[in-house]
Amino acid sequence: MASTAKAVEPVISAAWGKPQSWTLDSYRSRGGYDGLKRALSMEPAAIIDEVKKSNLRGRGGAGFPTGMKWSFVPKDSPKPKYLAVNGDESEPGTFKDRYILENDPHMMLEGIAIASYALGVHTCYVYLRGEFKFQAERTQAAIDEAYKAGIFGKSLMGKEGFALDCYVVRGAGAYICGEETALLESLEGKKGWPRLKPPFPAVVGLFGSPTVVNNVETLASVPPILAKGAEWYAKLGTDKSGGTHLVCLSGSVNRPGVYEVGMHTTILELIHDDKYGQGMPKGRKVKAVIPGGSSAPVLGADELDVALEFEALKMKQTMAGSGGVIVMDDATCMVRSLWRVARFYAEESCGQCTPCREGTPWQTRLLRKIEEGRAELSDIDMLSNVASSIAPYPPIGLGNTICALGDAAALPTHSFLMRFRDEFEAHVREHRCPFGDHPWGSFG
Ligand code: NAD
Ligand code: SF4
Repeated sequence: MASTAKAVEPVISAAWGKPQSWTLDSYRSRGGYDGLKRALSMEPAAIIDEVKKSNLRGRGGAGFPTGMKWSFVPKDSPKPKYLAVNGDESEPGTFKDRYILENDPHMMLEGIAIASYALGVHTCYVYLRGEFKFQAERTQAAIDEAYKAGIFGKSLMGKEGFALDCYVVRGAGAYICGEETALLESLEGKKGWPRLKPPFPAVVGLFGSPTVVNNVETLASVPPILAKGAEWYAKLGTDKSGGTHLVCLSGSVNRPGVYEVGMHTTILELIHDDKYGQGMPKGRKVKAVIPGGSSAPVLGADELDVALEFEALKMKQTMAGSGGVIVMDDATCMVRSLWRVARFYAEESCGQCTPCREGTPWQTRLLRKIEEGRAELSDIDMLSNVASSIAPYPPIGLGNTICALGDAAALPTHSFLMRFRDEFEAHVREHRCPFGDHPWGSFG
């Protein structure tokens, strides 16, 4: 497809690839920290209002309105308040936050400074996945620059009496520590076990204190909102989702990568447009797409003319999630693909809740049996029953477990079975995988 998708003005990725884009000098030469300057001239409540008006929604997966989340933090808490940045980015198919940390960490740091001032936070923790060694070093170097320039430290960019300290903490490689309450437990030095919600972290979070947990991209989106205004940002997006967003395109496409797209950009445009994926490899046709990281229900080939936006994808009973768009072609075995996804969740379950602890390996065993041609038709029903006892579907997000990992493990099973049951039955009928060895195409 030629370049027909509406071009977007890059907000987050404008400087990526430019020389030394990660340094303070480069950031300042592009108007960096102007948003903070404006924020410091405003009342904290007015900053929260501005973020609310921008229609910025969380980019970590749930798409919760950021300004609303900030407004839940009690103003008169006797306890210290905290900001925790979620940079644990471990959702399969998701690899965007690392680009922000590598290419433009000051954008996130400015977002941290603005959020902290608006919320009355004096301590921020940037929690990065254990594997992000380089990204942690680059973030730390940017923090050091910010301290040296008087942005962080005793007085926030010269604001007398408002101190802000910022620390980088690396996890130890557990997916579950990206769940916000497990992240808080991990920050407290404990095992990363999710907590029951409510209470939400905004009220009872780190060390029992009010804590806002925001994703890296969410915070990086805040400076332009303050610098250019909420109205400008809201208008870039749709009625309910402001701005632009990063999507991670992977799987069977000619040009995988991270792209900044508009909220109106459709999955078909992302796959085929010359600006983005540049189509499928020669001779291949799209069979299915996971639109928002492996937790998001899969869509079939006839459902892809849909915007990669929270509300539009909700209408299709799936999720925009964390922006991980995984494309599967007609050589892909859907049983093997689901088995691969199921193995991941079984491995990463923390084991606190019975449906998740027992159900996730059970799904894996059943899928292996089906893939290897040893199953009976009743095993397919059993698989559906096991998934339903972890989390029924639809609706999304009403599982029987403490955290969303249970939902994330069950939703792919439900959606693969709903759309591709014939392939599961073919494995049973033929006592083998009809796709043979398929070394390519099952992202396995
Ligand atoms: P959630 O809907 O429970 O919460 C979203 C956010 O809003 C949370 O910060 C929560 O504290 C806040 N919130 C919701 N209701 C609130 C209320 N009444 N008061 C105060 N705060 C409130 O979703 P979640 O469990 O935090 O996240 C699930 C999502 O995470 C999934 O959609 C998945 O796509 C995504 N995910 C992302 C990654 C990644 O690598 N980026 C990894 C795993 C999962
Ligand atoms: Fe742990 Fe799974 Fe329960 Fe989440 S749903 S708390 S990962 S057992």
